[in-house]
Amino acid sequence: MSRYITWLFCAAILAVPTADAAIRQTKGDFEDKFRQLEEVLPTANAFRTAGGEPGHEYWQQKVSYDIDARLIENIRRIEGSERITYTNNSPDTLRFLWLQLDQNKFRKDSMAELSQSFGDSSRRGPKLEDRNEDKAPQISIDELRRQQFLADTDTGYEIISVRGGGGDLVHTIVGTLMRVDLARPLAPGQAVEFSIEFAFNIVEEDAVWARAGYEHFPEDAREGGNDIFLVAQWFPRLHAYTDYEGWTNKEFLGRGEFTLEFGDYNVEITVPADHLVSATGVMQNPDDVLSRTQRKRLEEAAKADQPVFIVTPEEALENEKEGTRKTTTWRFKADNVRDFAWASSRKFIWDAQAYHQGGDVQPMVMVMSFYPKEGEPLWSKYSTAAVIHTMKVYSRFSFDYPYPVAQSVNGPVGGMEYPMITFNGPRTDEQDDGERTYSQAEKRFLVGVVIHEIGHIYFPMTVNSDERQWTWMDEGLNSFLDAMAGLEWDPDIPWKVEPRDIVDYMKSEYQVPIMTQSDSVLRLGPNAYGKPAAALMILRETILGRELFDFAFREYSRRWRFKRPTPADFFRTMEEASGVDLDWFWRGWFYSTDHVDLSIDRVWKLRLDTRDPDIDFERRRQEEKDKPVSLIVERNRAERKLWVENNTDIRDFYDENDRFTVTNKERNEYREFLEDLEDWEVAALERAVAEDKHYYVLEFSNHGGLVMPLLLQLTYADEETEMMRIPAEIWRRNTKAVKKLIVTDRELTQVVVDPRWETADVDVENNHYPRRIIPSRIEAFKNPEDEALEKRDIMQDIKTELKVEKEGEKEKE
Ligand SMILES: [Zn+2]
Repeated sequence: MSRYITWLFCAAILAVPTADAAIRQTKGDFEDKFRQLEEVLPTANAFRTAGGEPGHEYWQQKVSYDIDARLIENIRRIEGSERITYTNNSPDTLRFLWLQLDQNKFRKDSMAELSQSFGDSSRRGPKLEDRNEDKAPQISIDELRRQQFLADTDTGYEIISVRGGGGDLVHTIVGTLMRVDLARPLAPGQAVEFSIEFAFNIVEEDAVWARAGYEHFPEDAREGGNDIFLVAQWFPRLHAYTDYEGWTNKEFLGRGEFTLEFGDYNVEITVPADHLVSATGVMQNPDDVLSRTQRKRLEEAAKADQPVFIVTPEEALENEKEGTRKTTTWRFKADNVRDFAWASSRKFIWDAQAYHQGGDVQPMVMVMSFYPKEGEPLWSKYSTAAVIHTMKVYSRFSFDYPYPVAQSVNGPVGGMEYPMITFNGPRTDEQDDGERTYSQAEKRFLVGVVIHEIGHIYFPMTVNSDERQWTWMDEGLNSFLDAMAGLEWDPDIPWKVEPRDIVDYMKSEYQVPIMTQSDSVLRLGPNAYGKPAAALMILRETILGRELFDFAFREYSRRWRFKRPTPADFFRTMEEASGVDLDWFWRGWFYSTDHVDLSIDRVWKLRLDTRDPDIDFERRRQEEKDKPVSLIVERNRAERKLWVENNTDIRDFYDENDRFTVTNKERNEYREFLEDLEDWEVAALERAVAEDKHYYVLEFSNHGGLVMPLLLQLTYADEETEMMRIPAEIWRRNTKAVKKLIVTDRELTQVVVDPRWETADVDVENNHYPRRIIPSRIEAFKNPEDEALEKRDIMQDIKTELKVEKEGEKEKE
């Protein structure tokens, strides 16, 4: 799902103890931040190894679907039937199966609806940070609309029949789950077939905020207007049955997404004959549903290096003016996918371009975008291009794009992913002259959301993590990669995806660890998207370096492609393949709410005493001279009050010698000192005296709790700078304060910690030694203005006429 939608969310505060806080291991307040995670992670077994790889007995179920569905446009309803083939690859005998009935979430009596506490999210009340307990609660117009829609519409599934083995199967609905009791137990290695007839009324996406739904366009020329239908979570589908949890049957509350099995799909979709359908899979009957011209254009697209219109803007505009009572049936086939979604409308413009990625998995991918005129002229320029850019970047980090089709469809959903198809929301604005324009923010939204949602086809559509439990496993990994792709697209667009951009969240109070169950996460956007993405960027650029990180990340992707990883599998693989112990990193970034705030507090310059009185006494005399002259003495001298200066004719021995005068007594002591030393001690001392190096002791403290490498920029008297990168392990015996000795030929003048803002350090001012004059505190107030700059629709504003005073007008006043 898109960060753009979910960043709007926030929820109630929870107190979460750290995973191992229960057992005190130390005396005082010392905490072992490098303690190994093994006791927290699940015990390895034959299904998952201790190295984070699928074990030698790894298994997963296979569930295939043949679905026949009909969109009844005028009443916005889906009616369908499906035949499900369930193959039991587990070592267990199953007497019943659990299915997901996601549409039941929209019932008025659903757990999601009843357990929605007021003010939990921005749609239902003010943001957590803005809440004022003394003020009366407020309700948003969005929430009024949602309440009204649910009151007016019959929502949730009608399950008309469940049949198998020649008769009806007993089935029991439990909220968004349905248990189907099998006619006979399903032994390991066996498959069973059964059928379900179902129907439901499609929800209005803008009213209820679903991950699918219809959007109505009342202004269209056609009488009664038109709709775009985005159809997902639409057929009863199997819950996953896994080696680590058995049935992953947790109620769908709206936040935690889907835990699904791979399988093969044959889907027939019947829609009004003037609709275009975009769906998971490859279209099987172009001759039935496309015109000759459209089929010819599709062939051209397979050879083109620019998007080719299959349906032009003019044709789409013409098409949306009328309607039809006729229907056509579109057939799609998709192999080895974990879900199936589709979109249908008579409003769609359609462009396509082949992406020749090479390799033997899927040498050619057909890339397609579907959008109404309301997305132009933005979509035809950037949607298909962004899909191709995504595949280029993601494949480099993981594996070749695994499917024959990749699609971006515009509709009411801000951003949502399904295998081979994504729903993306950006639109343009119609101006008085009929022209459509957009702001830079909307352009960033389009490119960003397309990258993000297409990226999900890798994670979690192919690397099939358990979204219902762990949002970060798909959103965090995907946000990391979409940031990589965004920064490679155009670094001048303010993507706000780097570690420096997560600082405000890291120091905020509204936090739970990343390792928190999806539905309980506070502020989902920064928690499950931004923070894990920042953590992975830091892991790549700062901790491991690109070479080790990229090897390990590719290894994780390769191991779990078309399989089901858990968090432990990710943590273990990254550590195992990079060769670097990262338990402290996972512990700090994923299991705690600590933040980074390292400070350089003091720098000492040490000078080696030679012990030779002829050298050291003279140095001490000089040090004494270097001290500032006493103000009292200076004024007394000015007033000619000093006796010794007024009586220079009286002199003695101490006018020629001071307390630093060396005598043979000290020289003899020095000789005795040398005689007592071992030969190697004399050699070391002599060499040190000869080299006369500078010894600096740097003192650091840790105010945020997270242990991190000390990235030091050292500036010398000759103005040259040098980077010194000290591993996080320096904090292993004292996590609050450490010292570091630096021996150098040069004179040190300045130290800056993390000068490039790599680590999300929340206070960069205490990173400077000596402290600097803080360049600009006004910066903090500039941000809203920056945002306003991005949101300007310059395409429109540029046409604004300059207002000039008409002659004579002034005289009237
Ligand atoms: Zn997402």
